[in-house]
Amino acid sequence: MARNPLTAAFARYVMEATVAETGLVTPAMRRIRLVADEPIAFPYTPGQHVRIQINDPLSVQGILRPADTLRTYTIWEFQPEERALELRVHLYEGDGIGLRWAREVEAGERVAFWWPQGDFFIREAPYHLFVGEETAGAAFGPMLRGLDASARVYGVLESESARHDLPMPGSHRLRRVHREGASAASSGTLLAAVAALDLPGDAGAAYVAGEAGTCRLVRDHLVRERNWPRKSIKVKPFWAPGKRGLH
Ligand SMILES: Cc1cc2nc3c(=O)[nH]c(=O)nc-3n(C[C@H](O)[C@H](O)[C@H](O)COP(=O)(O)OP(=O)(O)OC[C@H]3O[C@@H](n4cnc5c(N)ncnc54)[C@H](O)[C@@H]3O)c2cc1C
Repeated sequence: MARNPLTAAFARYVMEATVAETGLVTPAMRRIRLVADEPIAFPYTPGQHVRIQINDPLSVQGILRPADTLRTYTIWEFQPEERALELRVHLYEGDGIGLRWAREVEAGERVAFWWPQGDFFIREAPYHLFVGEETAGAAFGPMLRGLDASARVYGVLESESARHDLPMPGSHRLRRVHREGASAASSGTLLAAVAALDLPGDAGAAYVAGEAGTCRLVRDHLVRERNWPRKSIKVKPFWAPGKRGLH
């Protein structure tokens, strides 16, 4: 893969890899396993993400159209000894460049990815609350895997239908709800399920991710209806209708 000189200046953060395996985990969730050319020397905490370079942001085209360059996906599984990382990408109905890449990429293809710092981590708390849809589930998997079996865990995962439930690692179980054709944006289905949760009286640590409007509704519910302090709620909007490459 030819590397442009500007990219070389950022080489510390950019890694090149080969797609080793792909496959469907649900009808609308693709697993993509990457093996890096070199050992991965970055620190890693479950919940952290990479940015897949669909187009080089430091090329002329990338400078002119920065929204069409990098797409963000959580590291589902990291195996540094094998220089490997695996992604779970939601195949929503639409036409983003990340979606096209995730749908079409096959084993043997080359890819570059950027390794930024992420701050969507498990925090110390009496209990943990996870809320989101398919894209959030891809982040919650590694976070749940990193929790002790003795941790107290609550949460709701929304997907299109039972066939679209992403299997989660570890022993902790989240409630599942299904949109059945309704929009994932500002989701009433997810909000109602969170409102129905029987949570302990005091606040824990909440991790809320996925569509931006739903994230806002869930945060507002926790703050206004359950008196949670804002600092106990980590909100990470992953996408918003009409916005390309939100982060
Ligand atoms: C920190 C972080 C971690 C993330 N981790 C994951 C992950 O592990 N797996 C994963 O699948 N996604 C993940 N996402 C979400 C993913 O980056 C976005 O869905 C991204 O917009 C996809 O890029 P795209 O090129 O397909 O669409 P874009 O070009 O960004 O958007 C094109 C259109 O598609 C819409 N759109 C984008 N995503 C969705 C969606 N999921 N459902 C419905 N409409 C959508 C947009 O609103 C826009 O109208 C993460 C995002 C962040 C910020």
